[in-house]
Amino acid sequence: MTDPAGTARPCDLLVTAAWVITVDADRRILRDGGIAVTGDTIVAVGKAADLDREFTPARRIDRPDSVVLPGMANGHRHLLCCAKGAMPEGGTTLQSLRRFIYPSFSSLEPEDMNVYARHATAEMIRNGTTLFEEPGCNHIDAVLPAIAESGMRARIGLWTWDQRGSGGSDGLPDWLRLDTAAAIRRLEDGLATVQAFGNARIRPAVCVEGVTTCSDELTVAAARLAEESRTLAVQHKSTSQREVELELKVFGERPVKHTASIKALNEYTLLNHVTSLDADDVAAIADSGATVSWNPSTALKLAKGTTQHSRFPELVAAGVPMGLGTDAENCSNHQDICRAIYLAALLPRDAREDPGAVSAETAVELGTLGGARALRFDDVTGSLEPGKQADIVVFDTDDYDWRPLHNPIANLAYGVTGHSVDTVLIGGEVVLENKKSTVFDEDALREEVEATDRRILNKIGIDPSPAWPVI
Ligand SMILES: [Zn+2]
Repeated sequence: MTDPAGTARPCDLLVTAAWVITVDADRRILRDGGIAVTGDTIVAVGKAADLDREFTPARRIDRPDSVVLPGMANGHRHLLCCAKGAMPEGGTTLQSLRRFIYPSFSSLEPEDMNVYARHATAEMIRNGTTLFEEPGCNHIDAVLPAIAESGMRARIGLWTWDQRGSGGSDGLPDWLRLDTAAAIRRLEDGLATVQAFGNARIRPAVCVEGVTTCSDELTVAAARLAEESRTLAVQHKSTSQREVELELKVFGERPVKHTASIKALNEYTLLNHVTSLDADDVAAIADSGATVSWNPSTALKLAKGTTQHSRFPELVAAGVPMGLGTDAENCSNHQDICRAIYLAALLPRDAREDPGAVSAETAVELGTLGGARALRFDDVTGSLEPGKQADIVVFDTDDYDWRPLHNPIANLAYGVTGHSVDTVLIGGEVVLENKKSTVFDEDALREEVEATDRRILNKIGIDPSPAWPVI
């Protein structure tokens, strides 16, 4: 620290690193850079040597070999978790929903949701995620304190449907049977509950399931409620070719176009998945101002045909605010946005036989600022610049993923997993240090989640053993 002129001003924290990837308006990457923080807010980003002269920090995090990135965003992460690794293999989406997912959901008690929410937030933070979207959960009163305890930012609402969509109610569970009026009340209740919880890091959403399970009346009511309350109407949409074919038959138009036709697609809409789109769908999304969460690992694991039917490069080109998601355990088995970045960079290239389909820079942007924009949180997070919240991820570049290190964007897009995340700050508070949670007792949490999973699997009669003999 050098301050020969005595003009340095105080700040609470100075973080310095070999590479600071800002994702600011100019997409600057600072070699030997730093971030000065006061309270929960970034007050300066620049060369470490300059910040050293400018500030007298109360505390320092000096990581001379590390790479620093804005906190990543997970655009689709149900906390209504199913036991990880226990979903029977080989089922279609519909079979898996009926046999495993709906029974799991219906078995969860509030205390189970609290355990899952704490475990999921701990896992996301461990992988460098500081913001996530919960696109429909249950027992929200038990979930909100867990998110608050984690320190994460979130947008969250209640899982809602009226089972009166294009698919009818065949095959849907008795779990959460609601008529349209009750479903609308549930949307209002969820919104009011999150607002009353009063945590500045947690913003409400109006969540409708949306995959052929919701009436137009409910979808329109959700859109109106989101617009009136200046929040987001979140829905799963156009998730597979099968869904598109069904809605073409019932409505004579594809799901996205139908959502636009009933005037439920606007700048207060977040569409999840959109795995099957045509050019008109892309134009409808772009014209409406809606945002998108692209969840590549879900599409792959559930065999959604994303390589054949998706149009994510076109959504990027059209300027649609878009982020990446991992979804719940039945879909991804991991909560690592670095792995989503990898898939986002590479899947479209293979699908189109075009190595330029999605650049490494675009993929990294989707995992950071893109997600913050999609979740309508970019006013406070998604990039490292003065005025934004100090949501900061420090990667340990001693990890083999990172070496040799010439271009951190290439490492991030093609080689790095969240396991090299070493330190995470949210709003200037350290929530992960030396790869350990500073918030949760992780040993106790592991035991709690194992016990919860065993109890749920027992209840629904699923044996999660491997197919190979266990002796
Ligand atoms: Zn979902």
